[in-house]
Amino acid sequence: MNDAAPPVGVLALQGDVVEHLRMLTAAGARAVRVRRAEELAAVAGLVLPGGESTTMAKLARAFEVLEPLRAAVKAELPMYGSCAGMILLADRVLDGAADQETVGGLDITVRRNAFGRQIDSFEADLALDPGLAGGDGAFRAVFIRAPWVEEVGRRVSVLARVRQAPDPGALGRIVAVRQGNLLATSFHPELTGDERVHRYFVDLVRSS
Ligand code: GLN
Repeated sequence: MNDAAPPVGVLALQGDVVEHLRMLTAAGARAVRVRRAEELAAVAGLVLPGGESTTMAKLARAFEVLEPLRAAVKAELPMYGSCAGMILLADRVLDGAADQETVGGLDITVRRNAFGRQIDSFEADLALDPGLAGGDGAFRAVFIRAPWVEEVGRRVSVLARVRQAPDPGALGRIVAVRQGNLLATSFHPELTGDERVHRYFVDLVRSS
C-alpha cells in the first residue's frame, strides 16, 4: 500500500486513545477508532495505546476482537504498542495477572510495572535508534507505570535502552523494539507532542 494518508486505527477499548488519534493525524494518517473486527479489517495499521493491559485484554475478549487481532498480527498488519500496548503485543509477560492474555506476536519478555517498584512515573532522555529518530536519536520519554523488555528473541531489533532513571536498576533496560511490522515502546510519545515515533510507524504502514 502506498496511500498518502493511510487509514490507521487506534484500539479504542480503554486507555489514551484520543492522544494517539491526534498524533497519527499529525503524522499524516487518517486516524480512526477500532473496537470491532469489521473496523480492524478496514485499517492498514493499528496502534495499541497505553492504559491497563489486563483490562484491555478482557475487553478485547468481550468485544470479540482478541482473535481477530491475533490473526491480524499473523497477517503482518503493522502494529505499534505503547506501554500497555507493548504488553499486549508481547509473547511473554512477567508480573502479569494470573489469567492475563495477550495478542502476542512480538518475541519479547516484558516485565509489567517494572519501574513502578521504585517510582510510578518519570521522564528521561533516551537515545533512540537514529533510523527512527534521526540525528543522534535524542528523545525525551515519558514513562507511566511502564514495563521494560527483559529478553528479546533473535528477530527483534532493540531501538532504545534506558540511559537515565531514578532507579539505577533500570539503567540499560530495553524500552523500544521492532520485529518486522511490529513496533513497541515502554514510553508514551503520544503525551509529549514529539511525532517521530508516529511518523516512523505511519511510514512503516505506507511501505508495507
Ligand atoms: N501498568 C500498565 C499495565 O500493566 C501499563 C501502564 C501504561 O500503559 N501507562 O497494563
